[in-house]
Amino acid sequence: MADQITDLSAVELRERLVRGDISAQEVTEAFLQRIHALDPRLHAFLYVDTEGAIAQARQVDEQVLTGARRSGRELPPLAGIPVAVKDNICTKGIPTTCASRILEGWRPPYDATVVERLRRAGAIILGKTNLDEFAMGSSTENSGFGPTRNPWDLTRVPGGSSGGSAAAVAAGMAPLALGSDTGGSIRQPAALCGIVGLKPTYGRVSRYGLVAFASSLDQIGPMARTVTDCAILLNVIAGNDPRDSTSANLPCPDFTRALQVEVRGLRIGIPRECFVEGLQPEVREAVLQAARLFSDLGAVCEEISLPHLDYALPTYYLIAPAEASSNLARYDGVQYGYRAKAGDLYTMYARTRREGFGAEVKRRIMLGTYALSAGYYEAFYLKALQVRTLIKQDFDVAFQDHDLILMPTSPTVAFPLGEKVTDPLQMYLNDIFTIPVSLAGLPGISVPCGFANGLPIGLQLVGRPFDEETVLRAAFTFEQHTEYWKARPVTSDTVTRDKVKE
Ligand code: GLN
Repeated sequence: MADQITDLSAVELRERLVRGDISAQEVTEAFLQRIHALDPRLHAFLYVDTEGAIAQARQVDEQVLTGARRSGRELPPLAGIPVAVKDNICTKGIPTTCASRILEGWRPPYDATVVERLRRAGAIILGKTNLDEFAMGSSTENSGFGPTRNPWDLTRVPGGSSGGSAAAVAAGMAPLALGSDTGGSIRQPAALCGIVGLKPTYGRVSRYGLVAFASSLDQIGPMARTVTDCAILLNVIAGNDPRDSTSANLPCPDFTRALQVEVRGLRIGIPRECFVEGLQPEVREAVLQAARLFSDLGAVCEEISLPHLDYALPTYYLIAPAEASSNLARYDGVQYGYRAKAGDLYTMYARTRREGFGAEVKRRIMLGTYALSAGYYEAFYLKALQVRTLIKQDFDVAFQDHDLILMPTSPTVAFPLGEKVTDPLQMYLNDIFTIPVSLAGLPGISVPCGFANGLPIGLQLVGRPFDEETVLRAAFTFEQHTEYWKARPVTSDTVTRDKVKE
């Protein structure tokens, strides 16, 4: 029974919960059991809130489900549905480390707005998922607490930085998860783990309580095995929040209404700059095959150009580190988490930061400080802001006569652990197709679109600002006409079997 429960989507779980076939406690225990069986090998979680989750589930059973069944009242959207939360999102009283030693032991005194909304919707928070330290990376190998493994092949990375959330969903340890995306951290791990991940438009979801990496880019978004589940989770977390002044004051549609099988007449642009050297041939073929499917279904697919695409990576690696260097100044050993022992204040600051931060975080702080320093500011940071505008304008032009842009999510499938970790430039290249979308602040989704040597491939669909609906509709249509999303990683079952044998 436990295995069956963990294979269900949030929609299917809800049907059973509403009917009273299962209780929130049974659902929660099934996922917890699977976490305890698989996670010693996968390491998707940094913290599992076993007791808290069961207590929440009991409360939902007693106060929400029973009452609603008796009175016929509509249930809150996620009543009794477990969710895994990336560990850079604040959870009151539950450790939040950003996978950094510098935050070890810190328990936030408040919930992020998205977490508050999850709780209000009746969701059960299972625990906190692994990530690259402060969300800086593309493989989850930069975690200060050890890497996560890809459920499709335990010798490979799950992508990053939301690798823990992606692996948890792919392995059936959670039906839903939250990730954060600054330059690709929801979409790229979703692609590498064969699940669906959506980065909403910048401003669509509140960043209050998301530990800041690069504030002009950071955005929280849903990860799940189906497009429908992503839309349901987006419904819960999206919308204006007075506590985040960059959250958009726009009405939020019911995103599940966008889930129609219909793309006739949709104009889809395919940027020629994406199909160049470095793109794995199987990825290229799968993405072009997806475009053919959209054409067959009545969409109009045309080649377009994003002329400044080549500059996206260097632009991002000035802007993101610049913002990070400022945001990470607050970790001084006084206010949060780790504090090194020292005889005087200055030495304490320095030692805390030297011992608390990992190599990639230090690299970014140094790059960002340099780019912002007097004499270099105009040449680097200001120039990067100007190029960011040009990249945004490329998209504006493309969206004048296209409704959607179709491109790969990541240039390759999941790579072996250790392969790129010592070569930052190779690692940065993973996000070559997701970063431009982030710089422009646009909504983008990754959906499973094929396999190469048994490893998942992701298709990226990008929409106009605040037009998540078209993105979701196209993704849903694609999903309904393909079977890739139904495949499950065999390794996760092997892990269970091994465990049973032990
Ligand atoms: N991989 C990119 C980086 O290292 C993007 C990370 C992210 O989206 N959080 O910055």
